[in-house]
Order: sequence, then structure tokens, then C-alpha cells
Amino acid sequence: MTLTNSEAYLLCIEPTCAKRYRIDERLYTCSLCGALLDVQYSFNLTSSATQTKNIFRDRRTIDSDLERSGVWRFRELLPFVNDFSKVVTLSEGNTPIYRAPRSAEYAGLKELRLKHQGLNPTGSFKDNGMTTGVTQALALGASAVACASTGNTSASMAAYAARAGLRAFVFIPADQIAYGKLSQSLEYGARVIEIEGNFDDAMRLVRELTQETDVYLLNSINPFRLEGQKAIIIEMMEQCEWEPPDWIVLPGGNLGNTSAFGKGLAELKELGFIDRMPRLAVIQAEGASPFYEMFRSSRESLSPVANPVTLATAIRIGDPVSWKKALRAINWTNGVVERVSEQEIADAKALIGADGIGCEPASAATLAGIKKLAQSGMIDKSDQVIGVLTGNLLKDPNYTIRYHTGELKLEEAGMQHQIEGNFANKPLRAAANKEEIRRVLEI
Ligand SMILES: *Cc1c(COP(=O)(O)O)cnc(C)c1O
Repeated sequence: MTLTNSEAYLLCIEPTCAKRYRIDERLYTCSLCGALLDVQYSFNLTSSATQTKNIFRDRRTIDSDLERSGVWRFRELLPFVNDFSKVVTLSEGNTPIYRAPRSAEYAGLKELRLKHQGLNPTGSFKDNGMTTGVTQALALGASAVACASTGNTSASMAAYAARAGLRAFVFIPADQIAYGKLSQSLEYGARVIEIEGNFDDAMRLVRELTQETDVYLLNSINPFRLEGQKAIIIEMMEQCEWEPPDWIVLPGGNLGNTSAFGKGLAELKELGFIDRMPRLAVIQAEGASPFYEMFRSSRESLSPVANPVTLATAIRIGDPVSWKKALRAINWTNGVVERVSEQEIADAKALIGADGIGCEPASAATLAGIKKLAQSGMIDKSDQVIGVLTGNLLKDPNYTIRYHTGELKLEEAGMQHQIEGNFANKPLRAAANKEEIRRVLEI
């Protein structure tokens, strides 16, 4: 049952162009002006906002594929699908919001909540977008899908393609992918090609190849992915009883998630599901912060960073595809952009672990950014803040072990920068006898 007769189409985001396309056209950018496209709707919900909210909630008690998904449970707000029996889902979404008292104290806030998108089927929020992206690939009759990836996009695409019976081609920068992520793509059966270059090279090549062949592109330039990621916001607002927090904080790499959050919030507001906009705060790593630079200097266009560096590989992106949509999201929400150092990311990650939650490095930029924004007074210590953790702790075990053993280093232009293990928890070593163990553990 779907309570809508809304109409869906593709729309060029450039206001001076605003070209419309049919929803089943296989396009990633506007064929007139080259700008990004939105999946746009003339919403026509057959129930009130309050009734629809109740329907969303009631669906959680129904044990069917569609209702078990934290994306498709909200399908009236992403009505681009004709045949819901062809949806490709792994019961994505449905991620918890945790109270994080130690992280709150560390950041200087009275309270902090963390929504953990790392608890998705493949361990990152990319699953929210792949369920919609791969569903659209099937609807368009594609036989193969492809993406360039710093790891999580490929892991997720590989899983959903396998579920759908589609071939999957993954383009990754050689030697820059965390093992947890690479292992997933291999296990799910994708063809993995390691490009001798960085992420931005891989991205450019996969874009050209998907223009020239009928392989369907599933990077976040694909607007259907962002529709699924929008559900992160819908679910978050439902978990807040539709009472938005003051701030929603997330890391920014290619800026697809920032774009999806902005679009989700704008639509919820327009449809009367929420009555005010929370502010978005996007956090970048210092060595990969072109969006921050643009925001800080109030420029209208983004200057790419040629050689992005950060150990938070998921946000190691110098030329973010979705910056225009992300800028729109910042404008719609009176948002801000901050950047944080490698040391700040590493320490924040350990603190999130100390709360019994844990996450991958890129996700910890969220807490590091909250701390910085609280210190500068941008975020007030009594503000309601929800930080988004984007990926699972187990994605990048090497990073975590190195931090706790004092061996974490960033290599940049032939130089090595040591990251201090300020909150390190080194393994202990003891001879195999009880006295020695009691001595070491002080028990
Ligand atoms: C993809 C990813 C990001 C960056 O998200 P963008 O939408 O590219 O800005 C951050 N953290 C993790 C764990 C990711 O997988």
C-alpha cells in the first residue's frame, strides 16, 4: 500500500536552466547545461502529515521486506518507484540514536546524541542510498553498475548488486582503501579495479566510461542515491518525535550526504512534517577541505584540492561532485562548514569508542567538529545536537590499532606526521602465570 499519487521527474538544479526530464531517462547530469539533477516531485499525499507519520510508525510492526527497511517505510516521500515488488533491499536504515555522555563532556556540551549509520547492513550510510540507486538501475533495465569509491560506496554497491543479480564494477584508488571495505567488495563478488591514481582520477574515469557504455553509474552524482540517503533525515526526525534538534552535524567528503540531508529537511518542512529547520554543520578534514575553504571565503565556486590527504579515507576527496547541492543545503539550513585536524579526528574517535559506540575515522570528524564549534561558541553548550556517525568501527582496524599502540602516522609529501595516542589503550603483555597477570592488571 502506498498512499500517494505524487509525480516524479528529474530537474536540473541550475535555476537559469531548470530543464525537466522524465524519471526513466538515464541521465546523471543535465544534457543542456551539465549541472547536477534532482529527483523532484509534485507531492500529492493522500493523507495529512500527522496521519502519514502514524502510518510510518505502524509499518515498523510489519514484518515484510518493504516495511522492514528504514528507507522504504517512508516511501511516500520518495515516490519515484512504479513497482514496489522490484525493490532491492537488505533492511537498511533503522539505525539507533545513542546518548553519548563522554563524548558530550569532551565536546563541552550538556548533551549529545549520535545516530549511528555504521550499523547498516554493510556498515555505512551508503546502504541507504544503494537500495534506491540499485532499485532504479533495475527499473532502467541496466545489466551492470559501477562506481568510484574510497571504499564504502563500493562495499555497499557490491552487496546490493549481488542481491539484484547485476554485475558490479568498482574503481578504487590503488593502496588507499581500508581493508575492511576492500574485503567486502571482493566477498560480494564485484570486479574490483585498482586505479593507479587518487579518488578523483577514479571518479573521472568511471564517469567517462559510464557515458560511453550502458553501465549504470552509482556514485552520489546519481540523484537516486540521494533519495535513499534522505531517509536518514526522515528516520532521525521520527526518532525525535518530529521535533528537530538545533544542529545536525556530519562529515563531508563528496558532499552527497550533506546534499541529501538538505533536500530531506526542505521537503519535510514544505510538507509540514517539521515546523522549523535544524542547522547543518559539515565537517571536513584539514587536508581535504575545499568546501570549508569556499565557505570561509564566501566564494561562489569551489577550488578543488589537487592532492587531498587524510587518514580518514572516506573523506579524502579533493573535488567533491555534489558541492553545489551541498551549498544549497547550507543556505537552506543556515548551516556552517568547519574543518578539523588529523589529531582531532583521532582523539574524537577514541572518545566515541569510550562511550561504547565506536566508528570509523571519517565519522569521528563529526565529534571533532562539534567540539571545535562548541569552543568557538557557534554551538551553544545547551543546544540540542545530533551527530551522525557514518561508518562502522570495524571498517578500518589498522587505523584503530595504530592509534592505540602509538604508531599512527600521516604521510604527506614525503614527510611523516606522528599522531599522538592521547587516549590510547595499549594492549598489555604478561608471562603466562597468574602472579604476573595480577601484577599487570593490578587486581
Ligand atoms: C561516504 C562517506 C563519507 C562522506 O560522505 P559524502 O556524502 O561523500 O560527503 C563519510 N564517512 C563515511 C564513513 C563514508 O562512507
